[in-house]
This record gives sequence, C-alpha cells and structure tokens, in this order.
Amino acid sequence: MAQKNYLDLKSEVWDCGKCSGCGACVAVCPADAISFDEGEMVVAPKSNGYCKQSTDSVTCGACYAVCPRVGEQPAETLGNYLELACAKSSFEVPHKQSGGAVTAILANALDQGLIDAIVTVTEDRWTLKPSSVIITKSDVLIQQAGSRYSWWVPLLAALKYAVVERKFRRIAVIGVPCAVQAVARMRESDNDLVKPYGDAIRLVIGLFCTETFDYAALIQGKLQTHYKLEPHEIKKLDVKGKLEILKHDGTTTIVPLAELETCIRKGCHYCTDLTAVLSDISAGSIGSPAGTTTLIIRTPTGKGFVESAVQNQKLALTPGVDTAPIEKLASAKIKKNSRK
Ligand SMILES: Cc1cc2nc3c(=O)[nH]c(=O)nc-3n(C[C@H](O)[C@H](O)[C@H](O)COP(=O)(O)OP(=O)(O)OC[C@H]3O[C@@H](n4cnc5c(N)ncnc54)[C@H](O)[C@@H]3O)c2cc1C
Ligand code: SF4
Ligand code: SF4
Repeated sequence: MAQKNYLDLKSEVWDCGKCSGCGACVAVCPADAISFDEGEMVVAPKSNGYCKQSTDSVTCGACYAVCPRVGEQPAETLGNYLELACAKSSFEVPHKQSGGAVTAILANALDQGLIDAIVTVTEDRWTLKPSSVIITKSDVLIQQAGSRYSWWVPLLAALKYAVVERKFRRIAVIGVPCAVQAVARMRESDNDLVKPYGDAIRLVIGLFCTETFDYAALIQGKLQTHYKLEPHEIKKLDVKGKLEILKHDGTTTIVPLAELETCIRKGCHYCTDLTAVLSDISAGSIGSPAGTTTLIIRTPTGKGFVESAVQNQKLALTPGVDTAPIEKLASAKIKKNSRK
C-alpha cells in the first residue's frame, strides 16, 4: 500500500518550519537519503532526491511514520503518571544539571545490565558544541551529565548507528519532548522498517523543555559576538525565566530571554509539550528544591528503573513535588504555540 513519503514530510513539515530537528526521519530512512546540513539555524533536513517509494514505487513511508510534527500534537500539562518525586543521585555527579537523578537512574541501569546503550547529547567542553553520542559505560555517563541548551543536534539520527551497526537491543534514549514523541511513534508503529527501532528501545527519559537554542546563533552569534564570552569560560548554562551563565571564574552573566528570541529553533514555536508526556520517566528542575530533580514516573517500565536505582543506593527520593509551577509553565507553552 502506498504510504506517505518524504515529499509529504517536506510539504507538511520541512517547508513550513515545523521541524523540531529530532532526527528520527534521518535514522529510519532505509536509503540514508535524509540528512541535516551543519550551520546556523538549519530549519529542517534535506533529501538527496532518492526515495524508495516515490522513485522506485517500493512501499516505505518510514520517515513520515516517525515524525512527531505530523498529526495532532500532545497538549497536556503533566500527562499521565504513576508517581512524582524529588530525586537526587546518592553519589557525586560533577556536572549535574539539577539533582543528577537522570545520571543516577541510567548509571545504575548500565551497571545492572538492564540496558546496553544510551543515546543522548554531549558537548565539547572547549567549544560547547553539542553532538549526539552513544554511551555504554556508567563512568562516561557520569562525566557527561548536565543539560545542553544550545541544541539543534538531530539526536535520534544516532539511533541508526546504535540499532543497525552496533545492534544494541536494550537502548535508553534521553531526549527533549519532541524526540520522546518520535520514539513513541517508533514504539507504536507497525511499519516493518520502523519496528526494529521501536523494539530496541527499552527506556525513554524525557527532559522538560520550553525551547532550545541553535548552537551557532546562541554561542557564536550572541554570546561570543555580543557578550564577548568565549565558550571555554562558561561552566554552566541554566534557563530560569532568563539565561544564567555561570563562568569558571565564579561570576554569572544574565541574558534576558527576550534577547534570545532569534536564537530559538524555528520548530520550537510549534511545540506544545513541556513535560515529555509520552516518556517512561520525565525529569526537570522546576517543581523541586534546588539541587534535586523533579521526576514524573509515568509507566511500569519507568518505575522499575527508578526502584532498581533506589534499591542499589544510587538514587534518593523524597515526596513534595510542587506541581503548580510545572502546570503553569506547561499551560503557557500550550497557549503560546498551539494555534500555529
Ligand atoms: C534543552 C533543554 C531545555 C530544558 N528546559 C527545562 C525547563 O524549561 N524547565 C525545567 O524544569 N527543566 C528543563 N530542562 C531539564 C533540566 O535542565 C535537567 O535536564 C533535568 O532537570 C534533569 O536534571 P538531572 O540533574 O537529573 O540530569 P543530569 O544527571 O545532569 O543528566 C542529564 C542527562 O541528559 C543528557 N542531555 C543533556 N542535554 C540533552 C539534550 N539536549 N538532549 C538529550 N539529552 C541531553 C545528558 O547527556 C545527561 O546524561 C531542560 C533540559 C534541556 C536539555
Ligand atoms: S521533526 Fe524530526 S522526524 Fe520530523 S522532519 Fe524534523 S527531524 Fe524529521
Ligand atoms: S521546545 Fe519542543 S520542539 Fe523545541 S526542542 Fe523542546 S521539545 Fe523539541
């Protein structure tokens, strides 16, 4: 049966600026025909023009099947969940973003043999340039903790290498909500070309996300040119109603978010999911005291991974998540972006 193909994706998503940059279509294209260019504000992927379906009339439709920007968008604030917790790693995580809970859950999962690989985003500590990475050792994961805000990396493109080349069958994905939505489509899909991806993903941890910034526009354009800040001077970036830049010399530079509008990826303006409602576990900083991570444990799978980390004394949980600020921020995101 004819499926929608990359030409439909191009007209419905790429050409209208809706692409989130998740990279799922790049991963699942069996002809390796879809890719992202490097550079500033790359809005969408491109095709080399070959398509199994439109060129050779062979049933495919893989790229269209996984795209999170096709069809109805999630528009819930907290989504379904089993439990909420304020969480903290029970061991030192040097670059953790909030409580180091994401690192603790996944380091435990690797050490216990519950997963064999993690697909996530890392950054060059000198240039802060982000890239997608596959991690198989807990000590490497612990060194990679922290959030990458200047992200346009097509994270899920790395799944092709993880699933097809390395043949990992128990993969954990850490991703912002758009990537989580794409993985949910992979897990649900009955497309034979997509199924191997969905079957290989054991756990999905979603990070709360209001928007992400383009690396070249934020780091090179805004911070280096305007604020005379070199990437190697930056210790940590955090977004709390403004961009807080903590430098290695202990000083902080504040950049109002209004100044960063032009650095936000275009596709983020169509996003209505703050808390990654389709994940197994969602993680964020709002809703919990400083130094802890808010965990939204959504599925029995997610609960199992959290319980294992607690039992092995890698993770400590306390009650008391304040859902009001999360719901407020999530509602504001839905209101701002849902009519476009
Ligand atoms: C782009 C972005 C925007 C965010 N916006 C908000 C927000 O508005 N409000 C809020 O409360 N929380 C937000 N978060 C989540 C928050 O910053 C923390 O990631 C979360 O609280 C988990 O903290 P942790 O200390 O448990 O994670 P850590 O233990 O530090 O582990 C984080 C893990 O996430 C991986 N990672 C980092 N960046 C990315 C990325 N871009 N894609 C995939 N994996 C990644 C790292 O490799 C690391 O393994 C955002 C995160 C990101 C990446
Ligand atoms: S949102 Fe993801 S799957 Fe859809 S076109 Fe963009 S990169 Fe491809
Ligand atoms: S705001 Fe939405 S589209 Fe943009 S990176 Fe975050 S989850 Fe993806």
